[in-house]
Amino acid sequence: MKTFTPDSSIASDVIPSANYGDRNKGRQADMIVLHYTGMPDVEGAIAQLCTAGTEVSAHYIVLEDGRIVQCVPESKRAWHAGVSCWAGEEDINSCSIGVEIINRGHDWGYPDFPLRQIAAVIALCRGIMLRRNVPAHRVLAHSDVAPARKKDPGEKFPWHSLANSGVGHWVQPAPIVRSEALKLGSISDDVAGLQAALARYGYNVPTSGKFDGATMEVVTAFQRHFRPERVDGIADHSTMTTLHALLSSLPADATQAATTVAVK
Ligand SMILES: [Zn+2]
Repeated sequence: MKTFTPDSSIASDVIPSANYGDRNKGRQADMIVLHYTGMPDVEGAIAQLCTAGTEVSAHYIVLEDGRIVQCVPESKRAWHAGVSCWAGEEDINSCSIGVEIINRGHDWGYPDFPLRQIAAVIALCRGIMLRRNVPAHRVLAHSDVAPARKKDPGEKFPWHSLANSGVGHWVQPAPIVRSEALKLGSISDDVAGLQAALARYGYNVPTSGKFDGATMEVVTAFQRHFRPERVDGIADHSTMTTLHALLSSLPADATQAATTVAVK
């Protein structure tokens, strides 16, 4: 791709990626998906996202020092989400802006995200939300839309700081207390209720009443984002209370798309 004018006024550089296409059926972006790069070095991560043939890209890369590089124009479809689903929609690349945050990730020591990098992510997302009319509850983790495959940006990502600046939907997690819990192997109406609540929020989860491996992956993804103090895939009282607090603080029109959630 030729170089282009960045959509964001705070993007300091453009490194055009070869990997992008048109958004399908004219779908416009109304979601932001946050990632970490999960690679040991910055140059390798940027090359991976921009070089022809890798089949991956993102609209933006946020460096550790807060610099922002744009690689794909917001109007185009970047290839960041892969096989994904949210609120019944499967072509997440067509409906989202992908932001890659430079961080080595779980396989390479998973360092903390520097404050200036988070400040840049917040400023970037605020601009995208304004330009694209993205509601707060559609700023999501890659792990939210692909819980079986992905952990990023992970439990260290400071979603509460983003929410303090109006980016993302978040409530204070309910405290962890000793309690009955639903876990792998549980079969009950309570499991069906948990699955229905997760699906209503947007997660792609079977609503079978059986706490299977796929359900555990979704509970784990939920915890990474919304109850990061303990990420164990067990739906304890704190996890369920936090989920219900999130659901009751969604805007009234937010769960309509999820009522037709695709269950695989
Ligand atoms: Zn990712």
